[in-house]
Amino acid sequence: MNRPQQITVLGATGSIGLSTLDVIARHPDRYQVFGVSGYSRLAELFAICVEHRPRVAVVPDERSASQLQADLHSAGLATEVWVGEQGLCQMASAPEVDAVMAAIVGAAGLRPTLAAVNAGKKILLANKEALVMTGDLFMQAVRRSGSVLLPIDSEHNAIFQCLPSDYARGLGAVGVRRILLTASGGPFRETPLAHLQDVTPDQACAHPNWSMGRKISVDSASMMNKGLELIEACWLFDAKPNQVEVVIHPQSVIHSLVDYVDGSVLAQLGNPDMRTPIANALAWPERIDSGVAPLDLFAVARLDFERPDEQRFPCLRLCREAAEAGNSAPAMLNAANEVAVAAFLEGRIRYPQIAQLIEDVLSNEPVVAVDELDAVFAADTQARLRAEQWLSRNN
Ligand code: NDP
Ligand code: MG
Repeated sequence: MNRPQQITVLGATGSIGLSTLDVIARHPDRYQVFGVSGYSRLAELFAICVEHRPRVAVVPDERSASQLQADLHSAGLATEVWVGEQGLCQMASAPEVDAVMAAIVGAAGLRPTLAAVNAGKKILLANKEALVMTGDLFMQAVRRSGSVLLPIDSEHNAIFQCLPSDYARGLGAVGVRRILLTASGGPFRETPLAHLQDVTPDQACAHPNWSMGRKISVDSASMMNKGLELIEACWLFDAKPNQVEVVIHPQSVIHSLVDYVDGSVLAQLGNPDMRTPIANALAWPERIDSGVAPLDLFAVARLDFERPDEQRFPCLRLCREAAEAGNSAPAMLNAANEVAVAAFLEGRIRYPQIAQLIEDVLSNEPVVAVDELDAVFAADTQARLRAEQWLSRNN
C-alpha cells in the first residue's frame, strides 16, 4: 500500500474546505491533512486541527497565531502555526505536499494557489477567481511546472468528466461542438424585475439547491458566478467564449454537458453536493466514495431548461464582454464584483447596483495587456479604486 497522500486545504474553514475535509476523513488510508488555513473563523480552525491533526495551520496575523498556538498547546497538539500570505504560500508549496485544494474565496487565493502551481502540486481548483484573474499566465504556469489541474467547480468537473482524456489536443480535434454550462438561475430566477431593488443579502444567499459561502451565493443570484465560470471554462478547456452556452436548469441535477459533432451530448448528473466533484478530483483517475447519496431519478422526475434572460442577469453580459476583451478585463471584472458584493452584503448598495458598479468600472478603465503577474495586480488595484469611487458617489 502506498503512503497516504498529503493534502493542503487552503480555506479549510469554508464551505468547500469543510466538504473536502469530510471526504478526506472517509479515506484515512489514502489521504492525510498536511495543512489547513482559516481567516476569520478561528474557533472552527482549531476544531479542524483537533479532528484532522494537520502538520501546519495558517492564520492571517500574529495575534490569531498566538491564540491558536496557545489553544493547540493546551490540547496537546503539535500543529505548527504559520502566518499570512507568506505562510499560505509556504504551506501550499511545502515539499511534503502532494495535492492542494485551492478553496480560499476571491483574489486573496491567487498567490497561494499560484505557489502550489509553481511547485508542481496537483491542484484541486475551487478558487475560480484566481484563474479568471490570471487566465493565460495561470495556464502557462501549469504547463511549465507540470502540475495536474483538476476542476472542482461542479460544472467544470462535469465537463472534465464528459471530455475525452486527450481534450488538450483542442476541442475541435476531439470532436466537440460546444460546451453547455448549466446554471440553476439562483433564488431570483422568477422574482418580478421590479422587486429586485428590494431583495436582501439573506434572500440572495438562500440558494435553492446549493449550500455555499456568501460571496459565491450572491454571485449565483446575479449569475456573475456563471459568467466567471464561462471565463473559467475558456481557460480550462481552451474554448472560445462563443463555444460555451449557458443553459438554465433549475433542478441542478445535470452539472453540465458536452455537445459533440456527431450529435452526441454527454452529461454528468448527480445530487447537488460538492463532495462529488471533490472526491472525483481527489481520487482521479480512480473513483472513491464521497458520502453523497445516490441520485434518485424517480424523485427528481423532471429536468427543465431555459435560456437566460440578460435583462434579468446583466452580469452575464458583462462577463461575456470581459471574456471577449481578454487581457486585463477579466481581472477588473472580478475586482469590481468583489467590491460590489462586499458592499451589497454590508447593506451599502442595493442588489441591482452590483451590475451597475461593475459596468461603470469596465466601461471607464482601459483594457491593457497583462503579460506578468504585476500587471494583473495593477489592474485589480485600479478597478477596486474606481469601484470605491463609484460607491462614494452613489451612497
Ligand atoms: P467560504 O466563504 O465558505 O470560504 C472561504 C474560505 O476562504 C474560508 O476558509 C475563509 O476563511 C477563507 N478566506 C476568506 N477571505 C480570506 C482572505 N482574505 N485570506 C485568506 N483566506 C480567506 O467560500 P466557499 O467555500 O463557498 O468558496 C470557496 C471558493 O470555492 C470560491 O472561490 C468559490 O467561488 C469556489 N466554489 C465554491 C463552491 C461552493 O459550493 N461553495 C462551488 C464552486 C466553487 P474564514 O471562513 O475563516 O474567514
Ligand atoms: Mg459552479
